[in-house]
Amino acid sequence: RIAYVNGRFVPHGEAVVHIEDRGYQLADAVYEVWAVFGGKLADAEGHFARLERSLSELSIDMPMSRKALTIVLKEALRRNRVREGMVYLQVSRGVAPREHAFPLNPIAPSVVITVSMVDRTVSEAKAAKGVGVVTTPENRWGRCDIKTVGLLPNALAKQKAREAGAAEAWFVDELGFVTEGASSNAWIVDREGRLRTRDTNANILRGITRRTLMDVIAEEGLSVDERPFTPDDAHHAQEAFITGAGSLVLPVVSLDGKPIGGGKPGQVAMKLRRLYIERAKATAI
Ligand code: PMP
Repeated sequence: RIAYVNGRFVPHGEAVVHIEDRGYQLADAVYEVWAVFGGKLADAEGHFARLERSLSELSIDMPMSRKALTIVLKEALRRNRVREGMVYLQVSRGVAPREHAFPLNPIAPSVVITVSMVDRTVSEAKAAKGVGVVTTPENRWGRCDIKTVGLLPNALAKQKAREAGAAEAWFVDELGFVTEGASSNAWIVDREGRLRTRDTNANILRGITRRTLMDVIAEEGLSVDERPFTPDDAHHAQEAFITGAGSLVLPVVSLDGKPIGGGKPGQVAMKLRRLYIERAKATAI
């Protein structure tokens, strides 16, 4: 495998950043993940726009133009012969002697790219079975709209899920509402058959897959209620699913060990998965 580090493609095992990289010491870094279909980037524009926003919220300059970044991302895929998979980009503020405040003199951001392959046959089998989710108290900071590498609460939540035999954890806020998953947005088809997902004015990540799926849903003549739901709502829902560049649209069949929708993937979720993938493939660049 080949990785990209600060202007160079290097063997994955030799791809390193400095010990005083601010991403390493302070999580002073943002990232993006694109799903890859046929060697092309899915929802490319959306992910670039969010990258620019995340960087600007942290006053880090975009390390290169969108156009240049697209070329480098695709080159990373090409060199690794990835047709179906994912590509990860991380941009940190850069390397400087450890201090919380930003370095006084401007430093160059660190840019890292890694790729991974996905066996779509395995993913489809997983989707056809559905996955379990556990709930966990929301304990993240107040800027979850910024896609930073400060992912310790997310990592701990995912570990809790794994130990329970589940694939994802849903954070639940002080009012008892689900905010989002540790690496995905959360949805239900409620007992009245309405699609429901939390609004993005709340402290959650504005998922790009979520956004594209909204367009797909509108084209299907369906509507989405952008309103939070509780785990109890999910237990009584007809269906539940998650969205993200990794999971795409993935049916959820249990929450905290109790089945949702009879413990089988819902029809709406499976249809939306198919339609999302079709659209992502058709619009990938
Ligand atoms: N929420 C969180 C916390 C995430 O990490 C992700 C995955 N990046 C998502 C939602 C889904 O976002 P996207 O559809 O842009 O991958």
